[in-house]
Amino acid sequence: MKMLVTGGAGYVGSVVSALLLEAGHEVVVLDDLSTGHEDAVPEGARLVRGTLRDTAADVLAGAGFEAVLHFAAKSLVGESVEKPGLYWDKNLGESLALLDAMRRAGVPRIVFSSTAATYGEPESTPILETDPTRPTNPYGASKLAIDTALGEYARLHGIGGVSLRYFNVAGAYGRLGERHTVETHLIPNVLKIAQGDGEAVKLFGDDYPTPDGTCIRDYIHVTDLGRAHLLALDACAPGTHQIFNLGSGTGNSVKEVVDVCREVTGREIPAETAPRRPGDPAVLVASSDKIQAALGWKPERDLRTMIDDAWTFLRSR
Ligand code: UDP
Repeated sequence: MKMLVTGGAGYVGSVVSALLLEAGHEVVVLDDLSTGHEDAVPEGARLVRGTLRDTAADVLAGAGFEAVLHFAAKSLVGESVEKPGLYWDKNLGESLALLDAMRRAGVPRIVFSSTAATYGEPESTPILETDPTRPTNPYGASKLAIDTALGEYARLHGIGGVSLRYFNVAGAYGRLGERHTVETHLIPNVLKIAQGDGEAVKLFGDDYPTPDGTCIRDYIHVTDLGRAHLLALDACAPGTHQIFNLGSGTGNSVKEVVDVCREVTGREIPAETAPRRPGDPAVLVASSDKIQAALGWKPERDLRTMIDDAWTFLRSR
């Protein structure tokens, strides 16, 4: 199939582009390279540089695309709190431009990169797709609004859509890994300390109501996540919008992650307690029962493999 991958120069988008090419699909990447990297676009994919608002309609018109995989987005929670307008404009505004370009070009399917941040502070764990969505920041709110728009485009224009709500993505797929200019995520930050870049890991709060006092998250390997996109493409059915959580179904605390990083790297990795980060829920763990039952997807790579792959990736750079 001929696919458009928006944000295919970013972390998850580049991995999914590589998996699509390996499965024999034709891939065009649309990316404005504002946070992505040109050299992350896998060989065999064509890169079109531009924003969705300015470029999507031209790229899709009359070009015979059969699906869109939509990753292009702003994705920093902290930044979204400082600049909500930017998140509404880039995430929702540009996604609406994309959806309308799809409608006009008659592209029948979309798989969308949604997020656990659409749920906000959970009432119970693990989180089900039927749980209330009460995002606590503009990032999650803008992604939830796109999920809503997708539902309408499916119902009213017959598009087949799947939203995948990612929990904590980690690891690397060969030479494709996390390369953020501003790195806020736990695993790459801990591995940077292991490499000697910085003095100590900051544990953001050790007084949460969890067994060791640090926050618990559900980590998922980027390759497992990528595989789910290929299954989701097959599951896109005209006129329906389906939502699936994507997590491993198990939680690990910040301290546990740091310990596994110590084991994998063989380095000491000093850590110190720091104040809580505003907006961090104590526990975020996905129920992935729905996607396992509907699409037969299962996570295959554990936390140690994620950290091992991320460490190999970091040292190769
Ligand atoms: N965290 C931390 N130190 C860091 C980065 C993150 O203690 O340098 C914590 C953060 O407060 C959260 C967990 O690690 O509890 C995962 O954070 P991350 O930013 O990786 O993902 P999030 O769950 O916020 O999407």
